[in-house]
Amino acid sequence: MNTQLDLATVLLLHKSSFLVGAFCFLYARWQSPRDEGLGILASGFFFLALASTLAGYGEQKLLPAYLWTLSSFTLGIGGYALFWIGVRRLSAGRRRKTDWLALSIPIAGAAIGLATHFHVVNYIRASVFNATAFVFLAASALAVISGRSREPLPVRALFAAAMAVGANLCLAVVIGLVKPGIIPITTTYAFFLSIICHFAIALFALVLVKERAEAELRCSADTDALTGACNRRWFLAQLPRSNWHGDCLVVMDLDFFKRINDRHGHQAGDQALIAFVDLIRKNLRKGDCFARLGGEEFGLYLPQTSEAQALAIAERLRRAVEELVVISNDQCIALSVSMGLAFAGGDEGTWEDLFNSADAALYEAKRSGRNRVTSFSSAAASGSKPMERSLSRTG
Ligand code: GH3
Ligand code: MG
Ligand code: MG
Repeated sequence: MNTQLDLATVLLLHKSSFLVGAFCFLYARWQSPRDEGLGILASGFFFLALASTLAGYGEQKLLPAYLWTLSSFTLGIGGYALFWIGVRRLSAGRRRKTDWLALSIPIAGAAIGLATHFHVVNYIRASVFNATAFVFLAASALAVISGRSREPLPVRALFAAAMAVGANLCLAVVIGLVKPGIIPITTTYAFFLSIICHFAIALFALVLVKERAEAELRCSADTDALTGACNRRWFLAQLPRSNWHGDCLVVMDLDFFKRINDRHGHQAGDQALIAFVDLIRKNLRKGDCFARLGGEEFGLYLPQTSEAQALAIAERLRRAVEELVVISNDQCIALSVSMGLAFAGGDEGTWEDLFNSADAALYEAKRSGRNRVTSFSSAAASGSKPMERSLSRTG
């Protein structure tokens, strides 16, 4: 392979790969001002491009050896330190002031160089440089992969892998310098592979920003902005298209909510809605789906739950709401909720039919005094008829 690659061209490409990466990061930063890590990544790659340029001039004897070795070493280590800070910030999405302490490493390296002149000895400089680069790249890969539990974006694995390959290349260079002949790759080939890593790192950083934006968009499309609960769109999407025999649907409506708004103000009403949602969410089983269907009306889908179990769950929730006290502007707001419950026993044709049954049960709960849970089977026994409901309505 190395017979087909010439070192001068590969070095030029190596420097260019940093520049291309830096411009990609800058463009993405401009498009996504929130992802501050991209700006730091760009500056890291600019530092590395500058270090590579100085080293190139030095190799051509255009600069005194003492000057180019020290400056390219310090700028290169600074570039990797900035790279690590940028990746950490991009991955975690938050600032960590202590990360900037990493910049003390290139400063300390420069100070030691001034004192000992170790940088003028090529293999020592290259070993220390690549060992430090290995640490920063490996730590960056770890930062990206460890953020997966918090933000499970598919590209994290690829992004971390690209940095891990880059780190291992640096390690291979160190091993090759310390024990020549052990690693079966030439300097030219190592540079060539590291160019590919730089392009891959830039590409995957951009994909991360894109995947993050898409995930946020998907989340906000399914979330009610006021309460943080899932919305009607999400709720309808959760309902299975088949095999829903044995499932239960509960429709909830807060009692006399207009009066709460009139007495305490709309803002207090909002606070009451938020507190209600928090309470219900804390009391759900894994697999239950709860959403704000609109206004002060909510839906609860209980998969594979018998009517008796669903009634017990709904009754427990009703009691919890009754005991809830919302404090707003030093005033206590008491809430109560009425619930209509419909069980998919097999006779109903569509979800729309089940919604209509749950609505009829809710109507019956309201009619018979509110603050109660009524099932459609008992409402039907007392003469309530299913109501007409369109699933796409917003209120
Ligand atoms: P009922 O017991 O019959 O359900 O009486 P109600 O007063 O709750 O009657 P209705 O369901 O018709 O009224 C709903 C009220 O909920 C009307 C509307 O002003 C209020 N509301 C709907 N969405 C919001 C909201 O996002 N914030 C606040 N504060 N109020 C809302
Ligand atoms: Mg109401
Ligand atoms: Mg209502």
